[in-house]
Amino acid sequence: MSFLSAPIKQAVSDISQQLDTPFFVYDLDKLNAHLTRLVAQTEVKLWYAVKANPLSQIIKSLDKAGFNFDVASKGELEQVLAQGINSERVLNTGPAKNPKQIAHFIARGVRTFVAESINQVRWLNEQANLHNCQLQVLLRVQLRWPDGEKNPLGGDSLTPFGLGCDEWQALNISDYQQLNFDGLHIFQWGNMLNSNRLAELWSQMIAPLTQLSSDLGIHLRILDLGGGLGIPYTLDAATLSWDALIKALTHIKRDAGVKELWMELGRYAVGECGHYATPVVERKLNYSQQQVILSGGINHLLRPAVTSQDFPARLLRDSTAPNQVMSLYGPLCTALDCLGEHQLPSDLNQQDWLVFSQCGAYGFTESMPYFLCHELAAEYIVQQGQIECARRAEDASYYLR
Ligand SMILES: *Cc1c(COP(=O)(O)O)cnc(C)c1O
Repeated sequence: MSFLSAPIKQAVSDISQQLDTPFFVYDLDKLNAHLTRLVAQTEVKLWYAVKANPLSQIIKSLDKAGFNFDVASKGELEQVLAQGINSERVLNTGPAKNPKQIAHFIARGVRTFVAESINQVRWLNEQANLHNCQLQVLLRVQLRWPDGEKNPLGGDSLTPFGLGCDEWQALNISDYQQLNFDGLHIFQWGNMLNSNRLAELWSQMIAPLTQLSSDLGIHLRILDLGGGLGIPYTLDAATLSWDALIKALTHIKRDAGVKELWMELGRYAVGECGHYATPVVERKLNYSQQQVILSGGINHLLRPAVTSQDFPARLLRDSTAPNQVMSLYGPLCTALDCLGEHQLPSDLNQQDWLVFSQCGAYGFTESMPYFLCHELAAEYIVQQGQIECARRAEDASYYLR
């Protein structure tokens, strides 16, 4: 497996002849082929978690493939609707829905919500009443296992997402006449790369979830398993098999006795279609560390600083020089601005560009572009040999006041 295809390498080369600042490139041919595979099954209804990449052209590809849309803010909702997508295909998750946001979503036609607290349930009911409509609601559950027992869930730390089973017991569903409680939502871990492990985690959730729905008097018609499907960030990492996942999901669906399984995919849907390219500024040897200073760093790609997991990096130019370990640093005046240690050709120099792969998800919008007032990254689409600029590079005057 390689992280950089010939057409993308060519496109990055062409763009780098004309631009001297960092940019993202999205390979829509690769994205569309991948999405076609994901929707070629009937076991799971797929939603796109818009936060992974809200670029309009990406959203349009997901729309064409038949995905529905999971949005977590008014901004994401409006971006999805602006692409001509019907609000019936939109679902709202997120821990900070206030009554005003809920009212806006209902006014815009959204009828499906994941409730993360008892207050949210109450506000959803109140706003539905005011708008004279019924809403479909899933309750978001956060499972924990008793201390001392081996915790089967990767994401076992306490978060504000949803409520525990004990906390949900306080809900009396007959108090909320405007709401149809159709199911449960659970999602507590990210970037999982082992389908057996995922299947194991999902199956361990069935008993507590069916117990909770029966305690609450909810007919468990829908189970939403969120996202969390991983992509490899190193060449030797495992990749998930979609066929194996679908097989596992078929069993989960049967064992949980639900009519519908839902998933909201972010990373797994779009992560592999994106690349980020940046000029090299200089190289220096410092206390025997080979340091490479780049034009762009965590101002455009924050994820390595947040997760300590780097995006794979390649030299754009072909080189036959032997590889050596180099440490990559961005332009920010903080030690956090490091894009990792990589094996790169020893003749790398200040005329070069580096290309980072797997940047289609949690790239452009999960960054900190304003710090130190460098340029905003441009965004390009590549489709059937054509390069289209979706966003120009902008310098700081674009946003400074
Ligand atoms: C972020 C998010 C997702 C997508 O997660 P991935 O791991 O990128 O697939 C799905 N559901 C919810 C509620 C989320 O917040």
